[in-house]
Amino acid sequence: MSVLVTGATGYIALHVIDLLLKENYRVIGTVRSKEKAAKLEKQFNYNKDLTFEIVEDIANLSAFDHVIKNHANEINYVIHMASPVTFTADDFEKDILIPAVNGTKGILESIKQYAPKSVKKFVITSSIAAMMDLTNPTAILTEQSWNPTTWEQAQENGIAAYSGSKKFAEKAAWNFLEENKGIVDFKLTTINPVFVFGPQKFDEDAKGKLNSSCEIIKEAMFAPTESEIDKSVFGSYVDVRDVARAHVCSLHNDELTGKRLILSNASFTKQNIVNIMNKRFPQLKGKIAPADNSELPQGGRVHNEKTKALLGYIFKDLEEIVVDMADQILKVQEQ
Ligand code: NDP
Repeated sequence: MSVLVTGATGYIALHVIDLLLKENYRVIGTVRSKEKAAKLEKQFNYNKDLTFEIVEDIANLSAFDHVIKNHANEINYVIHMASPVTFTADDFEKDILIPAVNGTKGILESIKQYAPKSVKKFVITSSIAAMMDLTNPTAILTEQSWNPTTWEQAQENGIAAYSGSKKFAEKAAWNFLEENKGIVDFKLTTINPVFVFGPQKFDEDAKGKLNSSCEIIKEAMFAPTESEIDKSVFGSYVDVRDVARAHVCSLHNDELTGKRLILSNASFTKQNIVNIMNKRFPQLKGKIAPADNSELPQGGRVHNEKTKALLGYIFKDLEEIVVDMADQILKVQEQ
């Protein structure tokens, strides 16, 4: 069985690819350049079940044509993860919204044209951002929630642009399926994670600046002693390995078909992270912000009991995630 994974260089994608290879799938990854493919080939120890195709820019609606055409009978599953993950851009529409939406529309049209019957499952990595109403920050979020933003509002700032990009891209996938019933054979599952944290798949990638979500938590983990640490709920978290597992489960678990899965364990404050660092890394005391053992608030606005029941595995908790990330970062800093 072969799986096409778009955005194969990504933080989450590397964990997904690793899991797929361990479960004996053949994987075709899309990357933006030959150099990026060469790095991944080496990282995955030249695994013969892992090959790459170059897709330079998903904003181009025909970007995936050559990939789907060349592997038309081979690809059984698609995990579409490539999307801009940034809150800064010169032009929010051109740099964030259009690539996200065109990437999704483009790959779906390519499948319709070249592999309408061989692709059986399409899994898209959406986001809690596709569900959140930025103007109502206390609203409860469930598997039914939709971000109400308009295309125009999504161009007001970076957070609105990223959130809008995830909403419009996910909507494009559901709409496509509705409009192409009977023409394409595949089923759809969307994975909507909250903040994804946890170790990088490969230690060498834990050096320097990390991907957007991990960089947020890393700043709190290693905040200097005198820092003002935010004690309010910052958001909700989930471990990258749990997110990867949900993608792979979605390929073969029919109960997940047609579902939007919210990947979230619990809410967190930055002070929770600082407290874990102080407890588990006593050697850093005096070098990082101090613990504060007063009671911290809990958010609880993400209600994903349905997803948890469907997936049936326990998500990792914040302590395990922070410790695994810190161990990896400290290890590579010593090298
Ligand atoms: P990364 O930034 O690590 O990965 C993004 C991937 O998309 C990279 O492979 C990147 O390629 C590719 N990409 C971005 N823009 C383009 C483009 N215009 N053309 C071609 N490829 C492009 O992010 P994550 O692993 O964190 O995110 C993966 C997916 O998960 C995204 O869809 C994201 O929205 C979603 N997600 C992430 C969350 C998180 O907390 N990390 C939370 C919720 C959802 P390159 O490496 O070459 O830049």
